[in-house]
Amino acid sequence: MNKFNLNSLIRENILNLDPYISARTEHHQEKNSIFLDANENSFGSPLSFLNSYNRYPDPLQKELRKKISSFKNISPSKIFLGNGSDEIIDLVYRIFSRPEIDNVIIFPPTYGMYEVSGKIHGVDIIKIFLIEESYQLNLDKIEKIMNPHSKIIFICSPNNPTGNDLKREDIEKITKKFTGIVVLDEAYIDFSNQKSLSMEIDKYPNLIILQTLSKSWGLAGARIGIAIASEAIIQWMNKVKHPYNISMLSQEIAIKALENRDLFFFHLKNILAEREYMQESLKKIPIIQKVYPSSANFLLAKINFSSKNLYQYLMTKKIIVRDRSKIILCDNCLRITVGTHEENEYLINQIQKYSIQKIKK
Ligand SMILES: *Cc1c(COP(=O)(O)O)cnc(C)c1O
Repeated sequence: MNKFNLNSLIRENILNLDPYISARTEHHQEKNSIFLDANENSFGSPLSFLNSYNRYPDPLQKELRKKISSFKNISPSKIFLGNGSDEIIDLVYRIFSRPEIDNVIIFPPTYGMYEVSGKIHGVDIIKIFLIEESYQLNLDKIEKIMNPHSKIIFICSPNNPTGNDLKREDIEKITKKFTGIVVLDEAYIDFSNQKSLSMEIDKYPNLIILQTLSKSWGLAGARIGIAIASEAIIQWMNKVKHPYNISMLSQEIAIKALENRDLFFFHLKNILAEREYMQESLKKIPIIQKVYPSSANFLLAKINFSSKNLYQYLMTKKIIVRDRSKIILCDNCLRITVGTHEENEYLINQIQKYSIQKIKK
């Protein structure tokens, strides 16, 4: 990519913004002071037996970012935390894309929030479908379709709902060629054999990598999304975000979790073993036409006939999976998350039973 100019991509209203300076941005670290600057309740909350959460949280999440930085080996200045990746997706739209003028390119079948968020912002969504069956990027088409108003490209790898890694060379080629912002969503990267592109972040000034504590770290309830990008991009995110976007409770819980790496790796190992077990067992069931290869913590399975019927049958057995059959290129597909061994065994037994009934008919 030649002559990348970040400021030329940023919306004018954002370029000219004087950000809100919260009371705690400047003085958060100070201890032993009397805090009469933020209109908090100095007497505490009625939760007096705990840290009573009467104070606003650190707006820049310094301690948590330090922990994530040391785990991922990335400077804290290149890390931004959002209230889930969904907040970060929304922020990227707010910073870069002008409603009614700009467009954004996505590669369906993929994560639904790129499109929903774009529509909320009034931005044109250009869809370039992944190549059938391989679910890889269609580079020729992308080059033909991108235009000067294309501001953001969303790439998801490993991709949801297909589960596969997109080819790294393709991702790098697009990032080099594209003159706008590339968002690479790596929500499932810890389940993949492929390396994160975050180690190459300095090579790509237009790249924003999304990761999350919701999947491999098991903290979906805490809502912590991670963006990794150049310091310049991170600074724009900090200017535009809501001042206290991550609650104190979430910050504390995430810090505790990050201190327990052994259990993280133990769970990860179990999920990968269970994925293998499910893949092998599902493949053997006659009504299952195909189980796609997965680099994530879920499997996409194609059913020989209406997946909706199987979906409903599983509901009656109190198993909830995701029916993706309405999505283009996912005809008769169910997306199944890897559960605990007991859960997976029960699921497989139920699908086997269903398969036997179906074949008898
Ligand atoms: C689950 C998921 C996320 C995570 O979203 P959070 O808001 O961080 O929970 C992001 N991207 C994709 C593709 C996902 O599947």
